[in-house]
This record gives sequence, C-alpha cells and structure tokens, in this order.
Amino acid sequence: MRPVRHPSRLRGVEVTLKEAQAERIEKEIWELSRFSAEGPGVTRLTYTPEHAAARETLIAAMKAASLSVREDALGNIIGRREGTDPQLPAIAVGSHFDSVRNGGMFDGTAGVVCALEAARVMLESGYVNRHPFEFIAIVEEEGARFSSGMLGGRAIAGLVADRELDSLVDEDGVSVRQAATAFGLKPGELQAAARSAADLRAFIELHIEQGPILEQEQIEIGVVTSIVGVRALRVAVKGRSDHAGTTPMHLRQDALVPAALMVREVNRFVNEIADGTVATVGHLTVAPGGGNQVPGEVDFTLDLRSPHEESLRVLIDRISVMVGEVASQAGVAADVDEFFNLSPVQLAPTMVDAVREAASALQFTHRDISSGAGHDSMFIAQVTDVGMVFVPSRAGRSHVPEEWTDFDDLRKGTEVVLRVMKALDR
Ligand SMILES: [Zn+2]
Repeated sequence: MRPVRHPSRLRGVEVTLKEAQAERIEKEIWELSRFSAEGPGVTRLTYTPEHAAARETLIAAMKAASLSVREDALGNIIGRREGTDPQLPAIAVGSHFDSVRNGGMFDGTAGVVCALEAARVMLESGYVNRHPFEFIAIVEEEGARFSSGMLGGRAIAGLVADRELDSLVDEDGVSVRQAATAFGLKPGELQAAARSAADLRAFIELHIEQGPILEQEQIEIGVVTSIVGVRALRVAVKGRSDHAGTTPMHLRQDALVPAALMVREVNRFVNEIADGTVATVGHLTVAPGGGNQVPGEVDFTLDLRSPHEESLRVLIDRISVMVGEVASQAGVAADVDEFFNLSPVQLAPTMVDAVREAASALQFTHRDISSGAGHDSMFIAQVTDVGMVFVPSRAGRSHVPEEWTDFDDLRKGTEVVLRVMKALDR
C-alpha cells in the first residue's frame, strides 16, 4: 500500500508569492464604489439593493479566486481556501463592506479588496497552505442602518444576542431579523456564525488609518498595537433662566458660563495626560436658547477615547470632581452620566510582532499606532489573535466623500498581509 504522506511534510515547502497588483485593487475599489445610494460619496447601508449588488460582486470575485463561498446568519461572506491539514484552524483576513451615509470608498472596502487581492496572489502563486485561509467580507460595521456598530464582527465573536435581532431597528422600524430574512439570510442561525479559537487561528484586518499620522510622518504602514476604548458621558448643568436685561450679573445662575469652564478644563486635563487620550465635546445644547434669556440649562456630551484603560478611569474621576467643584462655585447644579463604555483592546503581541516584522522585511517604513476608531477586530480579538495593518489616509480624512488612500499604499498593505499569513501558516 502506498504510504500516505503526512501533511506536515509540506511545512518545508517555500513558494515565492507573486506581487499584489495595485491596478486590480484600484479597479475593484472603483467598481464597488458604484454600489451606492444617491448622493455624494458612498452610501451602502446593510440589506439594501446597494448591499446586494456589492455582495454579488464580492461572491463572484471570491469564486474567481477559487474560494468556496458561504454566508453566515447575518450575511458575512466567507471565502475559503482549504489547507493541506484539515485539522488546523483557519487563518482569516478581511474587513467590512458597508459604509456610513455619504462616506468614502475606502473605509472597510479597502480591507475587503486587499483580502481578495491576497486570495488571487495565493492562487496565482500556487501557494500550498497548511491552514485553511479565509477571506471575509463583514456586514454592518458602521451601524449606519441599525445604530449598532460592529454587528457583523460581534456576530463572528458570538457576541450578538438573539433578542438584538428584534430590538435593533432602522429608522422605519424594520428589525435586523426582518431585513436579513428579506435579504435571503437565516438570522435565526446566529449561533452558527460564532467562531472560536478552535476554528479560527487568527484574524488580520487591513484598514485605512482614518487619521493624519501616517501621512504626516510619511510612513507607509501602521502597525496597530491597540484599539482605543471609548467612554461617552453626558453632563447636565442646571441653573436658572432669567431676563437677560433685568437680572444683574451677581444674581444670575447662568448654566452656560460654568459649562464653558468645564469644557475648557476637560481639554486641559487631556493635554496634561498626553498619552494618546483624546476628548471631544461634540454636542452642546443651551435652554431655553433665546438670545435675550440667561441660559438655564446646558447639556453637553463628552466623548473620551484612549488606548489606556487607566487613563480613562483617572480622567473620568478627575472630570467628576471638577464638574462638582465648578458647579458649586457657580451656584448651579450639575450631573455627570456615563452612557457608553467600551474598553480598549490590546492586540495580540504575536500578531503585532508579525505585522511589524513583515513590514520590516518588505522594507516599508512603519510605526506602531493605536487605532482611534473602533473596528470589528476589537470584538474578534475576544475569540482569537488579531492583527491590524493601517495604510495612510490622505489628509487624515474619513467618513467623507473626499476619503482617499493611494492604490499603491493598498498594494503595500496587501503585501504585508500576505507575508503575515505566510508566517502564521508555518
Ligand atoms: Zn471601517
């Protein structure tokens, strides 16, 4: 009888991969950008005709790259290239293909297209992979339709509860379950979408930086070390509204003056921390809001983000104390309420090293960077090792039609992804 060759014998096989092609990446990104609702930029919301068109194109591209294709309960598209050792967990690469309203054509889509390019390069190079390789296009990351960010990534991590399929609704009251079912999916099979370390060895996501750092420093590759945590607070300052002409200054309980001081103090605290932590007051309302009325009530939001959990904790403690002090000095009442809390995620050190080593070996300039935006990767990191590769964003612009990344930078990012996959496959 002929002896069966053990798959691990293939360990030593070294195939030189062909190069990724910027032209193919460019063509596919432009092609996908056409699948958009009316209006400036790209608007591709989940389970819409635009989504359906992109889905069809992606499935065709995966099949053309000889991948077997399946969709999970929520419509994440998984293209798979079997490995020589069926016992091994998959090494996956991917990103999301939905968009914000009037967003750009690179956010998410760039990572999906680069994953497809990696699949084509593997095929053309005749690469023999031991682990199964998966190329994943993820749905509903932006939360632009159902107001729940990273739904697709959370499903992969097994973190979507069945009841969310009904509780998450769009502006017309259509639930995720209804929309996904109408889209031809089986949302009830949510549990089967969940992956674990047993069947997913690693996940790699290439994404545009969405910030200005790489471009400003003229660096080709961002080696993502962490994804920031987010705390969202609401501060309510209550004074008393009065006539703006007849109320002497010393008798006022103007809510806006202390609120303005609070905003300035938060800014000062964050500048003092100087560790990548950022704070933004993006929304502020003044009531009653008349030009001839002393402000009686002011509400503002605080969006705090940091790669360091400890910095967020210290910052929030400091803000709470400060708000109390400023309010009491001004003779007004103030309340701080936290309404959103997502901890920072440190990516697996082995993956960070693998991305850094790949960029070095390819002689691309690179630097470690913390992601200031949330990504599916932060949830997938709960079930397996995750690595992220950032490529430069022109002028740091994102979530706008002007969003741009050079196609050659995407090629370089793809080269890094390919090298990391190869390293993990050894
Ligand atoms: Zn994105």
